[in-house]
Amino acid sequence: MYLPDFDYFAPMSLAEACALLARFGSSAKALAAGTDLLPKMKGGLLSPEVLVSLRNLEGLRGIQYHKERGVVIGALVTHNDLIRSALLQEKYPSVCGAARQIANYQIRNRGTVGGNICNAVPSADLPPILIALEAQARLVGATGERTLPLEQFFVGPNQTVINQDEILTEIVIPDREPPFTGSTYLKFGLRRSGALAVVGVAAAVVTEGNVVKEARIVLGAVAPVPMRAKKAEELLTGKEATEELLEEVGRCAAAESKPISDIRASEEYRRDMVRVFTKRALRKAIAEGQA
Ligand SMILES: Cc1cc2nc3c(=O)[nH]c(=O)nc-3n(C[C@H](O)[C@H](O)[C@H](O)COP(=O)(O)OP(=O)(O)OC[C@H]3O[C@@H](n4cnc5c(N)ncnc54)[C@H](O)[C@@H]3O)c2cc1C
Repeated sequence: MYLPDFDYFAPMSLAEACALLARFGSSAKALAAGTDLLPKMKGGLLSPEVLVSLRNLEGLRGIQYHKERGVVIGALVTHNDLIRSALLQEKYPSVCGAARQIANYQIRNRGTVGGNICNAVPSADLPPILIALEAQARLVGATGERTLPLEQFFVGPNQTVINQDEILTEIVIPDREPPFTGSTYLKFGLRRSGALAVVGVAAAVVTEGNVVKEARIVLGAVAPVPMRAKKAEELLTGKEATEELLEEVGRCAAAESKPISDIRASEEYRRDMVRVFTKRALRKAIAEGQA
């Protein structure tokens, strides 16, 4: 399988990159590490005439903490950068944990946060945990920029709200108050490593003693886009997290999910795994919040 012909640009600034995307319109694509894009081009699924590489845009790298904004993750940060970040290990180990479950070492060394998000595959591992942590996405285009909740970024499989001239520059995880918080991402795949998610469940909670004051439950791979299980969240909020309640919340999340049957699992099986993994993810997040 060969790559089709294309023109390649490696702009030195974000403004230049956006201008190129605007100039070439739908025949152009941004290129981060290419772990998704290049196999799709080799397989004939996509054939952009122009690739605009983001590799020289140093401003899109790095993970930093800003007092007013929170943790800022550049779009070109790789999965292994996430895993190795001392800042994330301290503040949001659940993000490191999610990154650790992606693909294999080689892909994690190259694949980027921006690519994982913009590819918009329902089974992607980073969106559920980032949405559970209320992350915001910053998009910069040829004529301006905007910031929106990551939760509103996905439209359908491989579809996002991003405009043709826009580049995702960073993801921001705001600080959460009060301090008794816990979060986790659990992935269920068909192999122990290197498999795409059959079901992914992210949970983030705020606890007060045994009571769950706030809960966010985000499901991956069981709907066209990563989805909040809002009824399940409501069921849990303000209550003591007994085993019986967590079982009920798991069942509620399973009923809310909208899985399809495909080569990896049937709809029924996925739904049942949502029940099991929601319960486990909540147990883990709550224990972290109480610690
Ligand atoms: C063998 C294999 C296993 C994998 N396993 C997993 C897995 O377990 N879990 C998982 O979640 N993913 C998995 N992936 C998917 C993939 O590796 C990741 O999603 C990766 O993060 C993609 O990043 P990239 O930099 O390579 O993106 P690219 O391939 O460069 O780009 C992907 C898409 O996003 C667009 N894009 C990239 N960056 C930006 C940006 N900053 N702004 C606007 N548009 C942008 C591109 O135009 C393209 O459409 C796997 C891939 C392979 C090949």
